[in-house]
Amino acid sequence: MRKNKFPALFGTVLVCSALSIALTSPARAQFPEPNGGDLERGSLPSHWSTGGPKCMEMPQWQVHEYNPDFFILRQSGCTDFEMPFLYLIFGRDKAMLWDTGSRNGDLVPTLQHVVHAWLERNHRSSIPLVVMHSHSHDDHTWGDAAVQALHDPAIPIEFVAATQSAEQKAFGIAHWPVDVGQIDLGGRVERIVPIPGHDVVSVALYDRRTGILLTGDSLYPGRLYVHDLAEFQASTERLIAFAADKPVAYVLGNHIEESNTPFQDYPIGTIYHPQEHRLQLSYGDLLALEAGLQSLHGVPRRLAMADFTIWPTAPTSQALSAKTNAIFQATQACEAKRKWDHTADIPCDAPKP
Ligand SMILES: [Zn+2]
Ligand SMILES: [Zn+2]
Repeated sequence: MRKNKFPALFGTVLVCSALSIALTSPARAQFPEPNGGDLERGSLPSHWSTGGPKCMEMPQWQVHEYNPDFFILRQSGCTDFEMPFLYLIFGRDKAMLWDTGSRNGDLVPTLQHVVHAWLERNHRSSIPLVVMHSHSHDDHTWGDAAVQALHDPAIPIEFVAATQSAEQKAFGIAHWPVDVGQIDLGGRVERIVPIPGHDVVSVALYDRRTGILLTGDSLYPGRLYVHDLAEFQASTERLIAFAADKPVAYVLGNHIEESNTPFQDYPIGTIYHPQEHRLQLSYGDLLALEAGLQSLHGVPRRLAMADFTIWPTAPTSQALSAKTNAIFQATQACEAKRKWDHTADIPCDAPKP
């Protein structure tokens, strides 16, 4: 756990931001009493599996039951350094999967295992599964073909491609990106908020039953790659306005790249995170992101904050900069040597950020 959540200077920024929000977009009282309101409860682990210490011992996916109808899956770092999180949400009539994993994820067997277990537990024989995406990058869509090829009568697939037109149609978003869409899973309406900026088709999802807000690669404890700063900032403002009158239990993103030391990440390509930051962020972190973006005054510049880094990139390319690529290559070379036993003292040139 971290020692100091908000250093003094940052606390000042946050308070100022909260004040500006109070003037422009007031956060309404969430519930009249601190009794949990009507939110469904759930639990999050104190830490997640990453890529080690011994890759031979690691399952490809960690499955975590937040509650009986809300599951979080994390891909092992031993299969791919991106280690994305996926979310699987069950309604009465349909289930929904957020993303299909990264390279070498082999999601389908684990997905079938979890859905079949849910069906058995609920004395059901089948449930349609809506497969959608936080955005189109390949560390979240790599498993698309395998999921689409799944012919399991217990799990008919309704596939929503990671394109603007498919998302608008599936979620009833008339005017992109300013309208909010939704999909009814049966007693469970998911709200879909377009938040382009990291990617042109990025969306957030708000689950009213748990109060969980999924933010994909746009807000998580790590490097927030911003391809279009103006759009990213506008999307952050819209998401804050959307969430202002709703109970937000947790803000959950797609990765963890930050360590539990404030302002410090794991270099890109690292697969073993023994001191990893927690996954969950809060509505306050959304306000902190807004404050950080405002401090840039529209000029793309890297900005390391306590729990994440705003990291502007080339607007039209996902390619890494030469410096970042050098760190990535050196880190991957080290991990190839160390992945079988991170506890052994295997010499390797440490990458220099
Ligand atoms: Zn991405
Ligand atoms: Zn990603």
